[in-house]
Amino acid sequence: MRQTIQYQIIQDTIQKMHGHPTAEDVYQEIHKEYPNISKATVYRNLHQLADNKKINQVLIPDSPERFDTILPKHYHFKCKKCGDIFDVNIDYLSEINDTVQNAYGFQIDDHDIIFKGICPKCQNGKELQH
Ligand SMILES: [Zn+2]
Ligand SMILES: [Zn+2]
Repeated sequence: MRQTIQYQIIQDTIQKMHGHPTAEDVYQEIHKEYPNISKATVYRNLHQLADNKKINQVLIPDSPERFDTILPKHYHFKCKKCGDIFDVNIDYLSEINDTVQNAYGFQIDDHDIIFKGICPKCQNGKELQH
């Protein structure tokens, strides 16, 4: 299969997936329809899509690398119980870039925030067990 076709298939597949799939998730999804596409090809093309700014890479500590099809800048929440990653759509806090830049003289391009705690679903689950 030609490289551009594989790239297109991988792009189309991740665009249809919800949430923040890992490379493994994307591979599993592609494997259902295209069992001949290797894991290495999926990984390589996902990074190429990220390099081309078609998708975002989300780096979450203690979690495999994830990909995001929502491109505008946003924050994330990680549930400590189910491990799910949620989008946090609050206004981008551009002023903290200035604060850090002024304090340290770094030229700040960007920042990421990952909120951590327990998601509503897991909070409810906990109540039910009592
Ligand atoms: Zn949860
Ligand atoms: Zn996201």
